Amino acid sequence: MGCCDAPGLMPIEDALHSMLSRITPVNQTQQLPLAEALGFVLAEDVLSPIPVPPFDNSAMDGYSVRLADIVHNQPLPVVGKSFAGQPYAGEWPPMTCIRIMTGAQIPIGCDAVIMQEQAQVTEQGIRFAVTHVQPNTNIRPMGDDIGHNDLVLRKGARLTVRDIPMIATLGISHVSVLRKPKVAFFSTGDELKPLGEALSEGQIYDSNRYGIKPLLENFGCEAIDLGIIPDCPETLKATFHQAQQLADVVVTSGGVSVGEADYTKDILAELGEIGFWKLAIKPGKPFAFGRLENAWFCGLPGNPVSAMLTLYVLVQPMLAKLAGHSEWQAPLSIPARTKSTFKKSPGRTDYQRGIYHLENGQFVVESTGNQSSGAFRSMSLANCFVVLEQDRGRVEAGEIVNIQLFNACLS
Ligand code: AMP
Ligand code: MG
Repeated sequence: MGCCDAPGLMPIEDALHSMLSRITPVNQTQQLPLAEALGFVLAEDVLSPIPVPPFDNSAMDGYSVRLADIVHNQPLPVVGKSFAGQPYAGEWPPMTCIRIMTGAQIPIGCDAVIMQEQAQVTEQGIRFAVTHVQPNTNIRPMGDDIGHNDLVLRKGARLTVRDIPMIATLGISHVSVLRKPKVAFFSTGDELKPLGEALSEGQIYDSNRYGIKPLLENFGCEAIDLGIIPDCPETLKATFHQAQQLADVVVTSGGVSVGEADYTKDILAELGEIGFWKLAIKPGKPFAFGRLENAWFCGLPGNPVSAMLTLYVLVQPMLAKLAGHSEWQAPLSIPARTKSTFKKSPGRTDYQRGIYHLENGQFVVESTGNQSSGAFRSMSLANCFVVLEQDRGRVEAGEIVNIQLFNACLS
């Protein structure tokens, strides 16, 4: 153990490793219409059944020519048209040209398309303001973008807004995808009130479910909301039973600390097995991971910043693996210079909330202020985590720190 290790607390890297090493991806597949496949993970490689573009076509509005015909600088009469979707079908006599539009099929024998800005319409035909035209000018050749049978997307890619039109270009109407992992979640706590009701003495609104649900959906999961469960062991047990029937993963918030009403961990020990509990991370120390009879379990601390942070930092990679999203990448970390101090004592890895921007070509970062794990404003204002190493102490303004940029899931 190093000088600054916290006894009994597991380093975050070990926790992540332990979770990931136990997870195997879902394997049930389904065929989906392309338009419904956004956010799903491909179960098979996508190969192109056609070349793209499927035929040589014009990159410009202009005139389709044979280069041999324009060397004499004679006007060339127009014998016909090739429009997008309406190729020129007739004979093409020598010393003539064909009017052509962007995307239209290149007539057989054509060497180049001369754009209309370089052409002058005269009574004798089209006079071109250019003489030395390179072969294939303004021609987009068949297969220029994608060849027949090219590998376009790999199995394990999660379909983005950019992938869907890519697949449509290939004429593929349905894709084979993995089913999304199902995650059942609930908030625990006698003090929690649903929105729309007035608070009584000692109560607060349940905000965690409002972050957990969209975040799970952004991770590519089906999120099943089981509501607010009071701090009552019987009700909690019944809810765990129900949750593990419905889902691959059960996520709870609250009740994993060491308070007298923190039952979640004890129930987990009774219904399944605790993998680990208590990490060397701040906030988020009481995060718990384990296995129920039928599902994985992730116990998020109740404090709203801790709940969202642990879901993002620890549960996100695990769900990516479960989803079969083998191309998932951890959020980008870069060095930045601090513009404010960051309070810290050695012992745990801090994920403080920061706002970064570029200043004179360099990334700078400042604190969002109050870093209490209950002060959610620090999350709402932030665009990155300032990740301060376990051994590190207080950070002064001007020091270099690692910042982890929020990925699109937190947008
Ligand atoms: P716990 O982990 O249950 O000890 O809760 C830690 C702190 O987080 C307490 O101040 C709780 O009131 C608060 N908390 C727990 N669950 C929620 C929730 N769903 N929404 C907002 N705050 C919560
Ligand atoms: Mg509680």
